[in-house]
Amino acid sequence: MKIIDLYKPNKTVISFEIFPPKKDGDIDTVYRTMSELKVLAPDFISVTFGAGGKTRGSSVTTEIVRQIQDKHGVPSLAHLTCCGSENISEIVLELKLKGIENILALRGDEVASGGFQYAKDLIAAISGRGFCIGAAAYPEGHIACDDLEKDIVHLKQKQDAGAEFFITQLFFDNALFYNFLEKARAAGIKAPISAGLMPILSKAQIARMIFMCGASLPSPIIKLINRYGDEGESLVKAGIEYSLNQMQNLCDNGVEGIHIYTMNKPFIAEYCVKNLRVKRV
Ligand code: FAD
Repeated sequence: MKIIDLYKPNKTVISFEIFPPKKDGDIDTVYRTMSELKVLAPDFISVTFGAGGKTRGSSVTTEIVRQIQDKHGVPSLAHLTCCGSENISEIVLELKLKGIENILALRGDEVASGGFQYAKDLIAAISGRGFCIGAAAYPEGHIACDDLEKDIVHLKQKQDAGAEFFITQLFFDNALFYNFLEKARAAGIKAPISAGLMPILSKAQIARMIFMCGASLPSPIIKLINRYGDEGESLVKAGIEYSLNQMQNLCDNGVEGIHIYTMNKPFIAEYCVKNLRVKRV
């Protein structure tokens, strides 16, 4: 199933993101996560590629993606980065042979030496080979780009190169997403855009994320951490509730998709999906 075919008028596509185990991690945890997420009937599940370093390489992502679609019957999306782009042809061939139809084409957090410089170059190289290609979008602009308008020009280049849908980086203020959406549409971006959301689980997790990706932290989140402490059950509950409210507001305003960064914790996705009032078909 091609992911682009899931986006329809008056429907919100619900998707989840999971990550492969670290080198010495337990793959069974990921398989258990997958089984628990499947019950929530997501439209698709995506699997990261090498994010945060120290993962086991492309074949693990490919195998998890294959299991999601073949064993669980859920459409799946393989992330692929330019890093290691000398192996891109091999990885793409492996994806093809395993019947994987959807790729999220990314640059990765480091610029690949000797490989593709930008995601758009990777997209151009793999388009026309029968995959449905998605790419990343940034409601506040990418951390290395000093200007949102310029970043949107680069986003349009990804669409022109063959990206058919976008998934955004996390954000905590929906006004930023609506502002970005308006600018993206005005710039000729017609591809569906799923809003990526990550609930807060602890102060350390959120600090790590915002320093890595440059997303801004609005005062309601700071107040929430101040009120409930750095971690613990109350903060987790309040963090998920905050995300759920964001999701509900986005759905009520006709967002095309909600992408939940599950952090391999199915209870996050479960709480959101069970409490979200949304049109799924
Ligand atoms: P690009 O689109 O290439 O953009 C990178 C930077 O280059 C931006 O600042 C952009 O404005 C600039 N740029 C683009 N084109 C041009 C141009 N023509 N001229 C000048 N500047 C230009 N990382 C992983 O390692 N593994 C993952 O699985 C992963 N999954 C992700 C999933 C999502 C939904 C998102 C939002 C991010 C994910 N990332 C992942 C992180 C991603 O790799 C980083 O954000 C990375 O820094 C940028 O990737 P990109 O594909 O957006 O790059």
